[in-house]
Amino acid sequence: KTSLVWFRRDLRAFDHAALHHALRQSQAVHCVFVYDTAILAALPRRDRRVDFIHASVAELAAELRQLGGDLIVLHADAAEAIPRLAAELNADAVFANHDYEPQAIARDATVAAALTHDARLWFSFKDQVIFEKDEVLTLSAKPYTVYTPYKNAWLKKMRAEPACLAPFDIEPHAASLAPPRAGTPAPLPTLDELGFEASNLAELAIPTGMSGASQLFEDFLPRVDRYDVARDFPALKGPSYLSMHLRFGTVSLRYLVRTIVDLMDRGGGGDGASVWLAELIWRDFYAMILYQNPHVEGGAFKPAYDAIAWETGPDADAAFAAWCEGRTGYPLVDAAMAQLNQTGYMHNRLRMVTACFLIKDLGIDWRRGEAYFALHLNDFDLASNNGGWQWASSSGCDAQPYFRIFNPITQSEKFDASGRFIRRYLPQLKALGDKEIHAPWLVPRMLLDQKNIVLGRDYPEPLVQHDEARKETLERYAVVKVVA
Ligand code: FAD
Repeated sequence: KTSLVWFRRDLRAFDHAALHHALRQSQAVHCVFVYDTAILAALPRRDRRVDFIHASVAELAAELRQLGGDLIVLHADAAEAIPRLAAELNADAVFANHDYEPQAIARDATVAAALTHDARLWFSFKDQVIFEKDEVLTLSAKPYTVYTPYKNAWLKKMRAEPACLAPFDIEPHAASLAPPRAGTPAPLPTLDELGFEASNLAELAIPTGMSGASQLFEDFLPRVDRYDVARDFPALKGPSYLSMHLRFGTVSLRYLVRTIVDLMDRGGGGDGASVWLAELIWRDFYAMILYQNPHVEGGAFKPAYDAIAWETGPDADAAFAAWCEGRTGYPLVDAAMAQLNQTGYMHNRLRMVTACFLIKDLGIDWRRGEAYFALHLNDFDLASNNGGWQWASSSGCDAQPYFRIFNPITQSEKFDASGRFIRRYLPQLKALGDKEIHAPWLVPRMLLDQKNIVLGRDYPEPLVQHDEARKETLERYAVVKVVA
């Protein structure tokens, strides 16, 4: 039997469900990655994610060759290219891992139908999450909509079924990998050939590929026990920075969970390990929510929230542009947006702060912010991004109640007390003291003069007054009570 394994958001050659099953069931396994023109067309010509994929695909190809196989790399519309390649190789079946996003589900259905038409088989497997779709259900067999009981049920199931963390071996079955066609490895397209330019990914020293992911995890493990505290302070190296690797599958989620659970079982990891595991469970939770409720793409999880009237018109457009460009006059918000714009990463606490600010201080539709994040986040993932935005807009499952509105100044004083993070991204405010840096417009004019800071010249006046904006938001959200 000849098979084709289609790599998508699983760019690794170890612990890989589809590759494992294909190798075990076939005599000759070809591997392919498609730079999908249907996805790439919408992206700017300099995109850190394309750079990351490009480097990670090269490492994957090298690894597959090391194992005796090869990686065919195409630049085409995947929905057409996969059945065509399967025909060319005379493959009996195509293997891939599940993708839960609505567009991907539609694409895979098209591919599966074309393959069936040609009398070929389509197999796909769970790989991206520990538990998917309807694997974790309530006692009445319904999908959860609240995180904590979902997490408890998830943990219980994980303990009851330890096989869910078992690795899908590749090496013992590598003899089934088909050697390079034509005797030499398939060529890899350059970024230029794909129509892209290099981004600043290399400058940022963001490690790519499987080796980059393991480097980050090794760096994180010794500090996981402090994660529960350190993760809230954006100036600290608290989190793992693995999100981009989880997004593109250069790391195995099963391996991460297994390692953390083993550590916990040996009495290690402190509170940090269980809190970090809980974050990985949020990722499974949001993937399940998207799968079960595809209407969240573009609409509120709780439909009553679709009745909210958001600010529109030129003033709202100007406020949105100021938010995007980090010119709101609220230093923590602006520093966070600068972090996103310059690096493609934003600290989780700051994602919550900036999202709340856009929605509840500026009164702007959460979908506009969601789309901006989708374009700029290195780790953009439809399910987690949508979940995060709907949490902030209070329209999501288990979201922040609408009347709990982050105060951007208090958040700043609490989580960046000494202004270290703000100074990193807003050097023009460096001279301000630790107490002053959170709200420059409240600093006496004389003091600003002394430090040669002019509001409106060096740094913007605040776009809105938080207390007034808060009142307007409560009025805006009153409609929810009427509709609900
Ligand atoms: P760590 O703190 O080390 O966490 C480990 C992993 O757990 C992360 O890599 C991620 O896979 C997962 N995780 C952590 N927090 C969450 C969460 N709240 N929801 C789901 N998974 C989580 N995460 C994305 O991966 N892609 C997104 O597009 C995305 N958009 C977001 C938008 C908003 C408005 C908010 C509030 C959060 C968003 N998150 C998103 C979740 C979270 O902010 C990032 O996963 C995290 O900051 C990534 O950094 P890290 O890898 O260092 O995380």
